[in-house]
Amino acid sequence: MLQLFDTAQGRVVPFEPRRPGQVSMYVCGPTVYGPPHLGHGRFSLVFDVLRRYLEWGGNEVVYVSNITDIDDKIIERANAEGRPAAEIARRCEKVWYKAMDAINVKRPTHDPHATAYVGQMVALVTDLVDRGDAYETADGVYFSAQSVSDYGLLARQSIDSLQAGARVEANDDKRSPVDFALWKKAKPGEPSWPSPWGDGRPGWHTECVVMALDLLGDGFDLHGGGQDLAFPHHENERAQAVAEGRAFARHWVHNGFVEVEGEKMSKSLGNFTNLLDLIDSSDPRAYRLLVLRSHYRSPIEINPTNIEAAAESLKRLDGFSRRADEVLAQPPDPAALDEFRRLMDDDLNTPGAFALVFNLVRDGNRALDAQDDVTAGMLAATVREMTGAVGLDVERAPTASTGDTAALSLARQRDDARAAKEWDRADALRVELEDLGYVVEDTPKGTQIRKG
Ligand SMILES: [Zn+2]
Repeated sequence: MLQLFDTAQGRVVPFEPRRPGQVSMYVCGPTVYGPPHLGHGRFSLVFDVLRRYLEWGGNEVVYVSNITDIDDKIIERANAEGRPAAEIARRCEKVWYKAMDAINVKRPTHDPHATAYVGQMVALVTDLVDRGDAYETADGVYFSAQSVSDYGLLARQSIDSLQAGARVEANDDKRSPVDFALWKKAKPGEPSWPSPWGDGRPGWHTECVVMALDLLGDGFDLHGGGQDLAFPHHENERAQAVAEGRAFARHWVHNGFVEVEGEKMSKSLGNFTNLLDLIDSSDPRAYRLLVLRSHYRSPIEINPTNIEAAAESLKRLDGFSRRADEVLAQPPDPAALDEFRRLMDDDLNTPGAFALVFNLVRDGNRALDAQDDVTAGMLAATVREMTGAVGLDVERAPTASTGDTAALSLARQRDDARAAKEWDRADALRVELEDLGYVVEDTPKGTQIRKG
């Protein structure tokens, strides 16, 4: 059974979905005001690996990841460029998915947009005010953190120490520095929606709690995001659900930081790096392999040297896979798959699982050298099964792509001719394929063709 570190409990615990075999996950998505950076890449890859591994294990996964399409930063950029905020958000969302597709992150089952949920958010804030858990000020509506007895659970700090550590803004009229905005009153010219407190827009923490509960229901299985979201964002999402008397996430999973040149990556340090640049300048699978070779809770350093090293490792994987395509396909090794499962179930020990994968690649190459085709075929199938389980595509021997339907059809006709021992016809078909510019090879799996 899968065991995961749970931030709320501070230890590794069995991951038990509310309905066996059906997993509901909510992972905080992007605020769409600029290109995705390396930190976005990491959380997307970490939770994509977890999702795929759960699916590989036979679970049905509902994966929700929101798009924050209204926010101060979007408005700022809209003002700077003199365009509507909605246009900035739409454009940046396109870029986001382009990057996610390039690194093979599966699309979410649902990607709720904050602006489509404003009505439900207003209803929640109204209810929190009615319950006495939230209050109105000159610039918005705030949640009173005091009203939740275990506030600080995800920060793993008491509310008193959080209050002592919080920065107090000079013009604040919040009752406590840890209270947070549920609703922000609009300044002139800002995009806004009507509410009992005047026109305005929802706060970020209110978006996620509303969308998670609406799409996944009470007591959904897992809430995830980068470590920097645990407090205050996730704490504040949870506080609203608790105040409403609703069961929120059963498990909290957070991934470690990305470091660039030895420093924690953050916008304030100005060292955030564009994910699209990384994808363009290297094998788009390299970042996934780096993520897999580190533990998801550890910090990860991204630099040209380790990206290059990951690309080299991928060449080893591809090279073995292509070589092994020459031998007859075998089923994967069940003992090795058990070991893979054991490692992955241990709080996603992907570094261990990938040490295993590369050992199998080494053994597989040796088996090919020794012409032990059965072992080589079995190891190749095992490696493909493991890499496939976590979304790392490994190259196969180059064959005609599915676009070359006519050529593939000739290759199959040639296989039929050979099976019927019609050698003249088989030779004629080979010449025909060569005239079309293909290299024709006979393999145990039949005629293979590739563009010469
Ligand atoms: Zn969120």
